[in-house]
Amino acid sequence: MCFITHKNVPCVSFLYEKISKSKNVVDKRLNFIYNIIVKKFVNLQKGRTFIMKVKVVKFGGSSLADAEHFRQVASIVKADPARRYVVPSAPGKRNKEDTKVTDMLYTCYDMIKNGENIDEYFEKICDRYNGIIAELGLDFNISGELEYVKNAMCHASGRDYAASRGEYLNGLILSKYLKYDFIDAENVIYFRDNGTFDEEKTNEAMREELMQHKNAVIPGFYGVMPNGTIKTFSRGGSDITGSIVARAVEADLYENWTDVSGFLMADPRIIDDPCPISTITYHELRELSYMGATVLHEDAIFPVRYAKIPINIKNTNAPEDAGTMIVAETQGYDTEKVITGIAGKKGFSVITIEKDMMNSEIGFGRKVLEVLEDNAISFEHLPSGIDNMSIVVATDALAGRRDKVLSSMNRSVRADRVTIEDHLALIAVVGRGMVKAKGTAARVFDALASADINIRMIDQGSSEISIIVGIEEKDFNAALDAIYKEFVK
Ligand code: ASP
Repeated sequence: MCFITHKNVPCVSFLYEKISKSKNVVDKRLNFIYNIIVKKFVNLQKGRTFIMKVKVVKFGGSSLADAEHFRQVASIVKADPARRYVVPSAPGKRNKEDTKVTDMLYTCYDMIKNGENIDEYFEKICDRYNGIIAELGLDFNISGELEYVKNAMCHASGRDYAASRGEYLNGLILSKYLKYDFIDAENVIYFRDNGTFDEEKTNEAMREELMQHKNAVIPGFYGVMPNGTIKTFSRGGSDITGSIVARAVEADLYENWTDVSGFLMADPRIIDDPCPISTITYHELRELSYMGATVLHEDAIFPVRYAKIPINIKNTNAPEDAGTMIVAETQGYDTEKVITGIAGKKGFSVITIEKDMMNSEIGFGRKVLEVLEDNAISFEHLPSGIDNMSIVVATDALAGRRDKVLSSMNRSVRADRVTIEDHLALIAVVGRGMVKAKGTAARVFDALASADINIRMIDQGSSEISIIVGIEEKDFNAALDAIYKEFVK
């Protein structure tokens, strides 16, 4: 970050003026210079030092579901000149019964695969986009693009291509509406041959491209494979695109606009009116998202993590709400609270291996884990005793492989007994405040004991920011309630 003072104001403001007005070929070069020299400065007033922040703003599908939301999005973007780069999702649901455009595109793809005609169904997708354009009164004809997409889909362009068009088309409309440049994500987001995201190549290309644009819309969710085909991130992946853009421009803030005012301390479907979380660290968020707290895609943290760019979850329908700030550990956001949040998931199984003298057998653990690896099963937790070892895995991961896992375990480590028990739920009590507070584990166990809940497993990571307990699925809601009451109200 650098500073501009009254001494260099005249030259900078001249440049700024020139760039804002210029509409010709010089644009690109001027923007380039603009980005290098004055990237972070906007208000130029005599005698003062000003810092212009750069914000990357991502809007989820519910924030761009119809024309009314587009208007709201534009007013949010235009309210702050720092909001220079915008990442949109595809139009989401307008009401409970509605279907997301991304889901409609997946359906089209399946219909084509089954040899069905998509004319009528695809028309509904066209109606969504044309409706938004008409209601906004935009002078933009998108029918050529829609026709092209339909044709490409009918000519085996792939499932990811189909899904990605939701963001692509929405990005085109939003860029026209905001009068921002459009950058196609397929030119700046790269995947490797094995399908993994190529962060360094992407960062370089993205940075170079963004330097050329003072303001731009970059559609979320997709990028390109080395062979030129389109590939998407997993569902909800526009959050990752926003984070990639934020890293590339070294943004001061990544605003992620959605339909809730940030994270809550617990699932509101289980706990009545839970408190909002005002600040959470990347690390705490990973722990909570892993346990099912969904607002942000769990991989969206990675691109901004090393640059320590904070993420602010904001509500498009209540922009004045502060939302939740997601920050790096080192940013000094101390907390008074012992716990930041509680989350949990059902659907786990415990594989227990018993063998006398297990603890002195060298290589025992490796052999056990090899069986899981051979069966492509990842484990969640590994609590172990002296003569037994338990492995917590997602029950789904065992589907169709139970007998094989049991017999391989028996064979590989010559166990005395191997069993699998289902219906385990895990609850994570997460908080950076725990490091300083003594007796947190005792309070969790006490709360559960008072609610007559049996604890099947306990796991506290050495980072001391989470305590995970395993309980019977049937006790799930009561356990969350007991822990929440103990720590919050
Ligand atoms: N449209 C995609 C989805 O529905 C990606 C996103 O919204 O982030 O998953």
